[in-house]
Amino acid sequence: MRSPIVAGNWKMHGTRAENARLIEELLSRYPDQSAAECLVCPPFVYLQEVGRLLRDTPIGLGAQDVCAEAQGAFTGEVSAAMLKDVGCEHVIVGHSERRWVYHESDQLVARKFAAAQAKSLAPILCVGEQLSDREAGRTEEVVARQLDAVLSLCGVGALESGVIAYEPVWAIGTGHSATAEQAQQVHAFIRERIAARDAKIARAARILYGGSVKAGNAAELFAQPDVDGGLIGGASLKAEEFLAILAAAGTR
Ligand code: PEP
Repeated sequence: MRSPIVAGNWKMHGTRAENARLIEELLSRYPDQSAAECLVCPPFVYLQEVGRLLRDTPIGLGAQDVCAEAQGAFTGEVSAAMLKDVGCEHVIVGHSERRWVYHESDQLVARKFAAAQAKSLAPILCVGEQLSDREAGRTEEVVARQLDAVLSLCGVGALESGVIAYEPVWAIGTGHSATAEQAQQVHAFIRERIAARDAKIARAARILYGGSVKAGNAAELFAQPDVDGGLIGGASLKAEEFLAILAAAGTR
């Protein structure tokens, strides 16, 4: 049985004071036992401080991006070793805002995935189609291309410690989540595609859904057989909402 994960992507939000308040609220109401793993991904500048607040708690720490290079003259970039050094265990790669706003290619995302794993950071690989792709019936083609870039560079074994997040671009931050059926269909497709290379890894791979997940729709999404939790944007900034989503993941 795959243990579910709920990851909060704070994006470019928060101040030191707001972060401290959010963490305090999360910890004060955190369930005694959660069947789901939980982590938050604050902006780079706050990682160390949030990591300190989370030390010895059940909430893990992740980053929102990583440089594909190991070190050197790459102004403005942050390496996997640096993320590890400040206590990260996870890192998001290929978030749609990186792919579509900053034009990150499938190949660059795959190199970031490899760079993270080389430093024992668990990458959360985001894949997902734009609305125009879905309308043109190209959802599987796009998702397959994004996934295959990582499989080709890193091999299927890389998914043993990695996590995949299916995030349809049209559902992110829009308030319009995919339906549970739409999510399940793409999650099953991703699992089958991995299974074509290694059935055991496919069965164990955790595939999260992201895109306007809220307390009100989480349970239905997470009840799908191939949905192993969620990557949560806006709702991860509200403790009560995020904990309700965590609870929904823990009961699947
Ligand atoms: C995200 O940023 O990964 C995301 C899923 O955002 P939201 O939950 O706000 O749609």
